Amino acid sequence: MRHALLVTGIGELTVNDPQAVDDASRPEPYADAAFVVEDGRIAWLGHAFEAPAADERLDVAGRAVIPGFVDSHAHLVFAGDRAAEFSARMTGTPYSAGGIRTTVAATRAADDETLRGNVRRLIREMARQGTTTVECKTGYGLTVEDELRALRIAKEECDAATFLGAHVVPAEYAERRAEYVKLVRGPMLDACAPYADYVDVFCERGAYDEAETRLVLDAAKARGIPVRLHANQLGHGPGVRLAVEYGAASADHCTHLDAADVEALAGSPTVATLLPGVEFSTRSPYPDARALLDAGARVALATDCNPGSCYTSSMPLCLALAVREMRMSPGEALRAATLGGAAALGRTDLGHLATGARADFAVLDAPSFLHLMYRPGVPLVHSVWKNGTRIA
Ligand SMILES: [Zn+2]
Repeated sequence: MRHALLVTGIGELTVNDPQAVDDASRPEPYADAAFVVEDGRIAWLGHAFEAPAADERLDVAGRAVIPGFVDSHAHLVFAGDRAAEFSARMTGTPYSAGGIRTTVAATRAADDETLRGNVRRLIREMARQGTTTVECKTGYGLTVEDELRALRIAKEECDAATFLGAHVVPAEYAERRAEYVKLVRGPMLDACAPYADYVDVFCERGAYDEAETRLVLDAAKARGIPVRLHANQLGHGPGVRLAVEYGAASADHCTHLDAADVEALAGSPTVATLLPGVEFSTRSPYPDARALLDAGARVALATDCNPGSCYTSSMPLCLALAVREMRMSPGEALRAATLGGAAALGRTDLGHLATGARADFAVLDAPSFLHLMYRPGVPLVHSVWKNGTRIA
């Protein structure tokens, strides 16, 4: 039996209509909006006085409603924490990609239930902060068995699962890098392929160079699995160029770009995913979001939630940083955290609330989404709905 829920009393509704050529820095002019949820989708949207009859009514009493956040970059399958490393970093030790090995050891030693419990805890934490879609990568197993179990957990618990066997080279292969790359692109990818929505490579000094990255991307392409890349985080490198060349869904980090990188992203469907929580947590310079936006590149914002370089699950924090530190307008930031993330995951039904979209939305304890940046650090998420069902 169909059940129609009418959401009304909305103080300000951000629809993010992907068709609308509106000024992204301002919310849509919906001051008296309402919408109907049916079968997990937005079935109707318009002015409240025109709303059709419904089985149930949800009056949000003047609160703002936004599409749920699409967190398109997270690493949730791990054990242990690296608070001591964070403390050392804040008192002078620079961040390097090698710290990942600490988490690899803890993750390998953990049982499945510990790993799954950790993922669920983080997804609940994300939901309470307005996130309704989560992408999750592997990369802390780095053996065929450990990557496979991480990817299966990610696939079962999250909305998109990404195989990141090429995260770092594990310690036992330090002197045999080529052998490890062969394992990743061969037996490991064979085992993981049935569960992999994407294949990712950490293309970075201290992780994988251009030739190694190409080998893994070629293997993914040969199996028909779409790719995404960790690119240009710690310094300028070939990552963004490769992402565009391979038609990657996204190039993530984009902290160190030259003019050619910006131009390449602007002229391609590859989404530039910015992760300002990492720069905040590693005390590093932020990416040039303005250059990307002004050139016309598609931009997403995500948390990169992971135990090393950025252990936040908070999209509102990332929005505040994007506006305060990267000079994105509040409207641009919200769009990047919703519609941008959806684009990075190849989803047209997420990140907006037009008729037909999935009914994923957050109700804010504020009259406008602007309060997400205007009141940083304040828990403003009142309630969260995914597929038309309340999850937080
Ligand atoms: Zn990452």
